[in-house]
Amino acid sequence: MLHKNQYFSATCTDYTHEGMGVVRHENIPVFVKDMMVGEIGEIKVVQAKKTYAFGRLIKLTSASKERVKPKCPIAKQCGGCNIQHLSAKEQQAFKTNKVKNTLQRIGKIDCPVHDTIMMENPYFYRNKVQVPFGLDQKGNVVCGFYRLNSNDIIETETCYIQNDISNKLVNRVKELVIKYNVPVYDKIKHKGVLRHVLTKYGFNTDELMLVLITNGKNFKNKEEIIEILTKEFPNLKTIIQNINTRDDNVILGTDEIIWTGNGYIEDTLSGVRFKISSKSFYQINPIQTEVLYQTAIDYADIDKDDVVVDAYCGVGTISLLVSKKAKKVIGVEIIDKAVEDAKENAKLNNITNAEFYVGDAGDFLVDIAEKKERVDVVVMDPPRKGCDKVFLDCILTLKPKKLVYVSCDVSTLARDLNYLSQNGYEVKECQPVDMFPHTHHVENVVLITKTDK
Ligand code: SAH
Repeated sequence: MLHKNQYFSATCTDYTHEGMGVVRHENIPVFVKDMMVGEIGEIKVVQAKKTYAFGRLIKLTSASKERVKPKCPIAKQCGGCNIQHLSAKEQQAFKTNKVKNTLQRIGKIDCPVHDTIMMENPYFYRNKVQVPFGLDQKGNVVCGFYRLNSNDIIETETCYIQNDISNKLVNRVKELVIKYNVPVYDKIKHKGVLRHVLTKYGFNTDELMLVLITNGKNFKNKEEIIEILTKEFPNLKTIIQNINTRDDNVILGTDEIIWTGNGYIEDTLSGVRFKISSKSFYQINPIQTEVLYQTAIDYADIDKDDVVVDAYCGVGTISLLVSKKAKKVIGVEIIDKAVEDAKENAKLNNITNAEFYVGDAGDFLVDIAEKKERVDVVVMDPPRKGCDKVFLDCILTLKPKKLVYVSCDVSTLARDLNYLSQNGYEVKECQPVDMFPHTHHVENVVLITKTDK
């Protein structure tokens, strides 16, 4: 076992899933933040466990040629971007290898994994911004991002991965909050009003939404603030107050008061129009989302007679894109508001061959299987925890000829692929897509086909 405060020198040979460097000392793996593969450094052990340890890079003796200076001045402290110091090439290698290794190790899958599709200009890409408001130790209003593994807010004016109009809007809200003395929420005392500011921006429509999340209904100088913001941001389509009086880390509350507009914005994806409300899920990187969905559609290679199930469909994004090629698309989603939006989105685009149902994807497939309905292709895009066994077993009963699995968590993806590959399906290929540049996350699209066995 290593011990705390021990120093040693070592070469970094690997990355963890979160993008930390891995070195070995006395045959024990030590995880070191901000260290890159190939680098040699002096390391101090900061936490020692029996089989592994955490270290801090004290001195970089030999730097990787793929190391770059992060654009963002707070990249090191912020909990948001953890691999901004990696060049685009190194980020690509990190993401592709992570997918390959996980599919092999957990899934025992050896399919071709293509190089991760990276973003051409990987900055200012997020269409959704969530910024906590709080007070610093001197009692000044701060807004920004949480320090890594902490509830401290680091003051930030420009976040390099958020869209810049939202950066400007948030900064202006902060100025007005100070000017009009709006009490800012104190997490520890559970007192004050403004907790978070959320913005959503339609990259293709230029429509902007502002949500002020408050602890209680009252909001000081509401009228003045509305007047100034709507004048200064002509594309601000709607302002919403969301009320969250809970004493926990969930950002949005249940009740909402619409201050201006009709409570939603619209955006387009690959030519299809979508309504976006404050709570519904919508992919946060619109440029890469088109790449992701196009890959899924190419893999699905749908025939005009095909019946397609879009499981975990959200507001019907994939369903509506696929509907153009299929005979019929059936979407299922657990959040009723999202299903309502999906139905409206179908109408908005004059799409008549897409149906949407509220329910658990697994239970829904059980119903379809009992009715002996035909399903040719299933597209599934589950949350991080992946699909459950009920869902996968129903796939085995329904026997669709093709599955397209879109996943934001490669570990649960690998687990589910393993189960499918042992039960009559073959994993053909995997395409990672970089939806979240400068972070350790990677999205995947996988093509799976029915074998004759
Ligand atoms: N395909 C959509 C949404 C993907 S996110 C898109 O690309 O926009 C995953 C979705 O699964 C979320 O909308 C979430 O509400 C939904 N979900 C989570 N658990 C579910 C379950 N058990 N059954 C059906 N849907 C579920």
